[in-house]
Amino acid sequence: MSPVDSLSLRCANFLGMVLPLTIITLLMLGHEVWRRVCPLSFLSQIPRALGRQGKHIVDENSWLGRNALYLQFSLLFIGLNLRLLLVNSDRFLLGIFLLFTILLAVTIGFLYDGKTWCNYFCPMAPVQMIYSEPSGLLGSKVHRAPPKMITQSICRTIDKSGQEKSTCVACKLACIDIDAEGAYWEGIKKPDRKLLYYAYAGLVIGFYSYFWLYSGSWSSLSAGVWNETNQFATLLQPGFFIAGRAIAIPKLIAVPLTMTVTSGITYAIGLWAEGQYKRYNRRQRHPLSREQIQSRMFAVTTFLAFNLLFFMGVQPTLGYFPTPVQQLLSWAAIAASSLWVVKSWNRSAARYAREQDANLLQRQLSKLNIDLSQFLEGRSIEQLKPDELYALAKVLPGFSNSYRLQVYQGTLREALEQGSVTPARSLMTCLILLVGRLTIQLLRL
Ligand code: SF4
Repeated sequence: MSPVDSLSLRCANFLGMVLPLTIITLLMLGHEVWRRVCPLSFLSQIPRALGRQGKHIVDENSWLGRNALYLQFSLLFIGLNLRLLLVNSDRFLLGIFLLFTILLAVTIGFLYDGKTWCNYFCPMAPVQMIYSEPSGLLGSKVHRAPPKMITQSICRTIDKSGQEKSTCVACKLACIDIDAEGAYWEGIKKPDRKLLYYAYAGLVIGFYSYFWLYSGSWSSLSAGVWNETNQFATLLQPGFFIAGRAIAIPKLIAVPLTMTVTSGITYAIGLWAEGQYKRYNRRQRHPLSREQIQSRMFAVTTFLAFNLLFFMGVQPTLGYFPTPVQQLLSWAAIAASSLWVVKSWNRSAARYAREQDANLLQRQLSKLNIDLSQFLEGRSIEQLKPDELYALAKVLPGFSNSYRLQVYQGTLREALEQGSVTPARSLMTCLILLVGRLTIQLLRL
């Protein structure tokens, strides 16, 4: 192999390693960290840094607004096919592929405001959603943060006094950059989410299995790249080599066919398993909400996709490391994904909402002129769990109607303040829901 070909293979191998490692970062640290270091997100903001960003905002009811996830998933599908067909072992095509993507991101930045590239076009955004929702293992909890905070990866700038301030222009309702978990619960019932999660697992399987289907050996996968130097010439040659025989389906068709079949199968399995889980839930007299069932199904799918990707995609590229390091990394991946799935399994929309309300209630209770120490047994009010907070409010002897009104007004005020960093278009919806929920809670006290 010539030095140039060797360099080409190393580039592609590097890409094969970097993308999966991105996914590990997402699972561990959450969307908020990845968005801040994502090179494409950064490049798409160059027009803003130059003061040349477009002012156009995508209407959520437009075709693009309603179908963004389908579009992004399709672009991801095309990108993976291009990698298998052309890009994986050709440095020139790899360069064109990356430059074209960068150009697209910057162009969108010139045309649209906010992070429109990330929210409506980026093909990696669906992958980010899968591995970072409802939150990363070490992700922050925005819904329990004080008001007026610059949260997660919200668009921001530094003002003249050196302080960070929001530059949010409300380019997306329920924005993942403001509150990733809130955005997750907001969109969990949409049909595009099922396609995203269930079919994505099939994309992972199809992408890495094709190395074996094409060559008849897993050693191609271990190299992480094709040892081909003329990708175009192979497009019309047999695309499968199974049980020692070449199958006369051109590679140009074999690659998308493999990915379509595997993602179709996992999508069907996902829908079937979800139906079974719902039936089981009905037989148990509905202990779980529909969102929670959905969320648990998504969590298990993400866990499987992560481990498939790690052991099929990342592990074979770790050959440069000594065996103990490889084993350590493998066990670390299993441990991290197991902890993540346990954390996600126990989340629900109701729990999220209760924690959010409890956070507001907690701050309002601490402002009341009531001695709480006798009820707290040495703990501070900040250490109470949401259920304990509501229980405390119930037993407070001085918690009269005037206090309730005070709490209600304070909560409303904080919600309005939070609205200053929330997309303006979603403000009223948020407020109506929030105030409604809190009024019910307070009336019950
Ligand atoms: S909604 Fe606001 S914070 Fe979210 S990406 Fe758009 S501009 Fe940035």
